[in-house]
Amino acid sequence: MLKKELQIFTFGDLLNHFPFRHLDRTQIQVIGQINPSMDHVQVRGILISMEVLGERRGRRLVAQLRDRTGIIELTWFQGIQWVQKSLALGNEYLVFGKLGFFLGKPQLNHPEIESVKDNANAGKNFLEPVYSVTEKLKARGLNGRAWSKLTQQLFMVLGEKEISEILPQQIIQAEQFISRWQAFLYIHFPTSQQLRDEAIRRLKFEEFFIAQLRLGLLRSARHRFSKGHVFSKVGDNFNTFFHQHLAFPLTGAQKRVLKELRQDTSTGKQMNRLLQGDVGSGKTIVALMLMLIAVDNGFQACIMAPTEILAKQHADNFTAMLSPMGMEVVLLTGSVKSAEKKKILQSIESGKVSIVVGTHALIEETVKFQNLGLAVIDEQHKFGVAQRAKLWQKNSIPPHMLVMTATPIPRTLAMTAYGDLDYSVIDELPPGRTPILTVHRLDDARPQVMDFIKSEIALGRQIYFIFPLIEESEKLQYEDLMQGFENVKAWFPEPKYWISMVHGRMTAEQKNVNMSRFINKETQIMLGTTVIEVGVNVPNATVMVIESAEKFGLSQLHQLRGRVGRGSEKSYCILLSGSQVGRDAKDRLSIMCSTNDGFKIAEKDLELRGPGDIQGTRQSGTLDFKLADLVQDKLLLEKSKQYAEQIFVSDPDIKKQENSSLKEFLQVEKGFTTWGKIS
Ligand code: ADP
Ligand code: MG
Repeated sequence: MLKKELQIFTFGDLLNHFPFRHLDRTQIQVIGQINPSMDHVQVRGILISMEVLGERRGRRLVAQLRDRTGIIELTWFQGIQWVQKSLALGNEYLVFGKLGFFLGKPQLNHPEIESVKDNANAGKNFLEPVYSVTEKLKARGLNGRAWSKLTQQLFMVLGEKEISEILPQQIIQAEQFISRWQAFLYIHFPTSQQLRDEAIRRLKFEEFFIAQLRLGLLRSARHRFSKGHVFSKVGDNFNTFFHQHLAFPLTGAQKRVLKELRQDTSTGKQMNRLLQGDVGSGKTIVALMLMLIAVDNGFQACIMAPTEILAKQHADNFTAMLSPMGMEVVLLTGSVKSAEKKKILQSIESGKVSIVVGTHALIEETVKFQNLGLAVIDEQHKFGVAQRAKLWQKNSIPPHMLVMTATPIPRTLAMTAYGDLDYSVIDELPPGRTPILTVHRLDDARPQVMDFIKSEIALGRQIYFIFPLIEESEKLQYEDLMQGFENVKAWFPEPKYWISMVHGRMTAEQKNVNMSRFINKETQIMLGTTVIEVGVNVPNATVMVIESAEKFGLSQLHQLRGRVGRGSEKSYCILLSGSQVGRDAKDRLSIMCSTNDGFKIAEKDLELRGPGDIQGTRQSGTLDFKLADLVQDKLLLEKSKQYAEQIFVSDPDIKKQENSSLKEFLQVEKGFTTWGKIS
């Protein structure tokens, strides 16, 4: 039953069911000083009265306890007879319970009470653990208190030896950690707040440290055992492109990353690399150049984007750059007509085309490559892990994988969330970009905002207007959107102004037409939902207006803002909201106004939201720590990472005697299936 109710089935699991808090029973409060800020109180005094009051359901036993400073009322609604029998007026008692107030007077309902006479050293010298138990267990008589007893008994039989040390001595000494046994003892039954804190610190570290070791082992197993294609040379395609068609010099960061990718793909092991870079940092060109290297080595390469708009943009962009070199690019999306599709599939399977751009359509089973050597995933956060895995299977030797994301996450977190991937970052924007000026305006400033936009359009610039999706009701969402569009149209009437529009209810064809007109400057304004959130690149657009900006999350706002500031002109992001905005939303808006740095924003986002839904990491389980918190315990996380790295440097297989208990622990721990491959 325990097993089913709490998923507890061994001593070890009992041990690992930590109390969610402790009640401080080291202190005895003076009744006269009890105040409403206290939560639980422990008092000691003489029982001076006791009587049963009320009828039926209101029936209760009310007693009074007095110390030298005052009187507190004790009340029982159940077990009245039993309590009454076990207490005696004039005796001294130690009482503990949750504090309540009735008519301004302190009282304790159903307190614990024990006679001081019976128990010479009454007054407990530890912090009392409080455990969560399910209703079902409670119904069977196993409440938190009983649970505590069970755990206490466990510690009577468990000696130091049964909870043996796993951390290397050197770490324990350097960090002055208490022993593992002590840590478990004190997280359940601490004798002081300080010991409890020590126990928690040590156990949190352990959680992080073990996680880091596991990820490290996974990574090194992959490095050593996953066979991959060898891109041994840089050939004509790359060189011609680099020397004759690349329109700008690469930034230092782009060069460095390209080198890392070159290194990865030449070793004979499969590459699995995460490439992070803020919006506009120029990830696409790096991916394209690696794709060219794949082709130079006789392989095909594909790039998968999350939306048709983005896939089309990549395809157009690649075609413009590569067709002068006589290279063909195909675009495969869900909306390609079947006759056309058949032709494309055929050209992919026969190896006639080398560079393939697409959406999810690429992972369908009908898509067969002749020899896929590299798969790039753009905007990883829009895809699930399973979809990533599907691309692997497109070849007998899995292709190298380059996973790109423009929703930066702090590095330590990235290492934890994507620990199975290697990590590169483009931490530099191409030169000549002027920072985007971001402002927050209330709805009633709309006339000024519209005037400003008109002045930008007069300068030949283009504008985005983004409206939020309202998730509760699709119909409402659509109507709101249309209303919003109408409002904007009223400010910008034809034929002076032309407007493009993109939203989720349009067909891919309609979206394409609207997008193309905007790209070709036939329209000055693009109205849309977050459909255009990712990747869209129109350097002539200089103003991003976000309607109801308070409804967007931080990383989404940052993504949207990244649609402007892509050319050399000064760009603006205007966040519109009503005057009634919640506190969190206000925080988000002011963060947006204060920085353009995606990594800083990611850091803030993490603080505000927690790591909960960072890029689908929830499913991966790597971020599920029991005690540790990725945000609050950042320093411990960093430390654990450094120690784990030291271990990998000095003992890559974790084979040395000094790490033997650690290795044993890693092997025994359930759920770590990949270990088998490593040892
Ligand atoms: P993201 O990293 O957000 O995907 P893109 O790859 O779309 O960014 O690049 C944004 C813009 O910057 C594109 O117009 C691209 O051509 C341009 N760009 C990329 N690298 C450089 C560079 N080194 N110098 C100048 N412009 C660059
Ligand atoms: Mg991009």
